[in-house]
Amino acid sequence: MAKAPKAIGTPGAPRNPAWTRDELILALDLYLRHRVSPPSKNSAAVKELSSILNELGRAVQLDDKRTFRNPAGVYMKMMNFRRFDPTYTAQGRVGLRRGNRDEGVVWRLFANDPQRLTEVSQAIRGCISGRDDASAYLAEDEPGIQDAEEGRILTRVYRQRERSRKLVEQVKAMALKQSGRLACAACGFDFIDAYGPSASGIIDVHHTKPLHTLVEGHRTSVHDLALLCANCHRVVHASRPWLSVEEVSALRTARRK
Ligand SMILES: [Zn+2]
Ligand SMILES: [Zn+2]
Repeated sequence: MAKAPKAIGTPGAPRNPAWTRDELILALDLYLRHRVSPPSKNSAAVKELSSILNELGRAVQLDDKRTFRNPAGVYMKMMNFRRFDPTYTAQGRVGLRRGNRDEGVVWRLFANDPQRLTEVSQAIRGCISGRDDASAYLAEDEPGIQDAEEGRILTRVYRQRERSRKLVEQVKAMALKQSGRLACAACGFDFIDAYGPSASGIIDVHHTKPLHTLVEGHRTSVHDLALLCANCHRVVHASRPWLSVEEVSALRTARRK
């Protein structure tokens, strides 16, 4: 009989996978909420985050690489952020030196914008605790789409919203009413101009609002959406951070000079 694999976290077992962006955001949020006096390994706050992260792993990791974030690991990750914290290092202390590269990126993106960090963390937590549409983040990752700065789970919710048939139809109807055509906001491409009536109605809809505002409790207005051709839309989401419609438009203009 084959031996059962060792559980992750026990000696000799495979290492836990690297911390994901979503997990790092939640760990930074916990750290900054208790910056002066971080909670201990055995505190309720650290245990709560450990349990949230294990749920997150089950929701998002479909490649069978189960994560196991025990309270000791959560505590250590939270304390890893100290090495970037000027209120700590100013006293001549250095914090833990080891950590993953994305920790510094997450610190730079969110540490000086506590409101955004709080909102993004709450949005991620809201997805995990099942208050949003669970099917949204069980979808496969799409090739060519980079995860947003805000992590994987919000990226999946976001992409699902972009493809919501009802919203897409509303935006197209409004554009047709206003201008009589469906043209790309970045490059002006119009499928009917290029291919004739067989291409009628073809255009992508792109959300321009921050990801965390797409979860429950926020309404999307048609003014937060842009029409994009498939090519420009792909370019928007192909790098991290995602590009704005204006940036994609500028890239094209620069190439044509
Ligand atoms: Zn375009
Ligand atoms: Zn988009």
